[in-house]
Amino acid sequence: MISSKRLDIVVIPPPGFKVEHRRFDPSRPARSHDKEYRGVILDTHGHFCLPQERKIDESTFKEEIIEVLRECDVELAIFMPTPNEGRSPNHEESARQRRMLRNLDKNKIKLFCGGNYITYWLHCAYYNGHSEEELENSKILTRLSKDIDSGDYAGVGEMCINHFTKHGKQPVIQCPPNFKLFLKVVDLIARKGMWLDLHAEPVDPTGISHEKQVFGGIELLFQRNPNLKLIYSHTAMTNPTNVRRILCRYPNVMMNFKVTTSHYRWRNLEPIINDPEKELYEDWAQLFEEMPERFMVGTDAKFGWEGLWAKVKELGAFPVSRYKEWVKATRYVLGTLNPRAAKMIAYENAKKIFRID
Ligand SMILES: [Zn+2]
Repeated sequence: MISSKRLDIVVIPPPGFKVEHRRFDPSRPARSHDKEYRGVILDTHGHFCLPQERKIDESTFKEEIIEVLRECDVELAIFMPTPNEGRSPNHEESARQRRMLRNLDKNKIKLFCGGNYITYWLHCAYYNGHSEEELENSKILTRLSKDIDSGDYAGVGEMCINHFTKHGKQPVIQCPPNFKLFLKVVDLIARKGMWLDLHAEPVDPTGISHEKQVFGGIELLFQRNPNLKLIYSHTAMTNPTNVRRILCRYPNVMMNFKVTTSHYRWRNLEPIINDPEKELYEDWAQLFEEMPERFMVGTDAKFGWEGLWAKVKELGAFPVSRYKEWVKATRYVLGTLNPRAAKMIAYENAKKIFRID
């Protein structure tokens, strides 16, 4: 464990809201699925990395992805590196492949930048004790600045505070929110007015709470940068009571939601749907309808997954066809909401925040 006397961390303030520490009952009421939402969807959080081992034609693979988006009536998808992508020796090539994918259809694909060269670097920097000078020498800030100014990207991500081993041998990534180098990166993103997509698990799979650190960290980010535009991914992986309080406290926070994770894979992270029926819990449904302007679709698709984690076979591959199942499940969840909320969450909010015509 790293000593708390480190000079490269700052004090974390208390969370900016009263934290509900209780884990919610997984058998609580949920809305039954009776109809599908049939309108347009914008998927604001997906991944595509280079398939390393699969002997396929990469251009065919990219065309398959565009095709499946079309088939699913997903008007636009945003792709970004996973928090762990920077571990892969292949990550720069994956970033290049994402740009090629985007160039195949710029109206259908948008990208976030930075996740591959920032997230894992910060994790290592924290554990190895890098200095501010090393951050300068690494040219990460210069590169990020250039990427943001290029106009090629819609945001920065997926960055991460805590990403625990939830299944298989998924490697842990941790970068405490009070680590000065992390804060410098976030300060730059805020100064540039870019959206930051952040993954921050507040409880680990064994049930140990990191809520004070994570939610205090969110408060710290906004104390430093009141204008930070934050996409707090996967409904902040906390219960709807905390999410309501987060959204009330921080007007610049948006959240994406995913419907695909089994409770086992998402333990202690407050799934929004029951398992295995995949019905939206009533408390989440009410929150979505109460604050429809704050949520977006984010399937967390992992195209090319088997390439990135070829050595971690237990995680399994992500066949293009699985995306259809995930979008279908998303449509059933949206179908339980009132039509206005469903439309806003499905595409209107994303169009507005990413300025898409
Ligand atoms: Zn994530």
